Amino acid sequence: MMNDKNIGFIGLGIMGAPMCRNLLKAGFHVTVFNRTASKMDALVAAGASAAESPKDVASAADVIITIVSDTPDVRQVILGDDGVIHGATPGSVVIDMSTVSPSATRDIAARLALVGVDMLDAPVSGGDMGAKAGTLAIMVGGKKEVFEKCVPVFSAMGKTITYIGESGMGQTTKLCNQILVSITNMAVCEAITFAEKSGLEPRKMIEATQHGAAGSWQLSNLGPKIVERDFSPGFTIDLQQKDLRLATNAAAEMHLPLPALNLVHLLFTACQAAGEGDEGTQALFKSVKRLAAIKAD
Ligand code: NAP
Repeated sequence: MMNDKNIGFIGLGIMGAPMCRNLLKAGFHVTVFNRTASKMDALVAAGASAAESPKDVASAADVIITIVSDTPDVRQVILGDDGVIHGATPGSVVIDMSTVSPSATRDIAARLALVGVDMLDAPVSGGDMGAKAGTLAIMVGGKKEVFEKCVPVFSAMGKTITYIGESGMGQTTKLCNQILVSITNMAVCEAITFAEKSGLEPRKMIEATQHGAAGSWQLSNLGPKIVERDFSPGFTIDLQQKDLRLATNAAAEMHLPLPALNLVHLLFTACQAAGEGDEGTQALFKSVKRLAAIKAD
């Protein structure tokens, strides 16, 4: 089936490359740009067209997707000298799927609106596995009617697609997601530390609690890894910290004290200081152990 929208895709990293591949599989015509040009080759071999800049992508597309690293990078590819804003035609839609600042998102959307271009913020959850399988959770902010037009595009990349509300609310939801996973991770680290210090076999504790009110993805998935001292990354501490920085900054902008969020951010910083930034987020356990002067391994 050929799809009638021309898609532009900017940022072929760990997430972007497989998401772009799924759009091609769904029959969309896709024009790609990546700062490191060699990363475009595999997508061109799969049927995409290559562009020379984000501006050129925008002039070839009705829907322009960006998934780059951080807030300044999104600003650069959309509003920079060779940015999307200089090539996009009125009536086209920019969908930013990176995880970035909600307030910066609203600012970029307002700049695009001045030239008649709509923007949706649509960050994702599900990691590279979800990106490859096309099963990402996608949380979307922006105008509802614009979202509805883009549902076929989202459906090619994700499974749980939720319209949240006005511009920035997709990013806000993603940051709520990161607050939830991090503080729950902290609870798992403390419970295992407590169990081990008490002479309780931690596997038994997980078995007994995971299907009750204390159950969580973190307890069932990260808990056993912690018990086995497997700190290899599914999601790295460095990436988690980027998202927690966005969350703490957004909270500070609202004068909102969130003690548990700030505490877990700080304990992850201690992991980074110990050279553990490239380990999985379950290595938060090492910070908890260090506080208690207990060797983790
Ligand atoms: P990644 O593998 O590091 O890829 C980043 C991409 O952005 C690369 O294509 C990079 O180009 C491009 N880029 C960065 N800065 C740029 C700039 N200033 N100008 C132009 N291009 C730029 O990262 P990723 O894991 O795909 O993550 C992308 C986004 O998805 C992030 O916001 C991340 O938080 C979010 N996310 C990631 C995951 C995950 O599990 N990895 C899960 C959910 C959400 P080059 O190739 O030239 O470096």
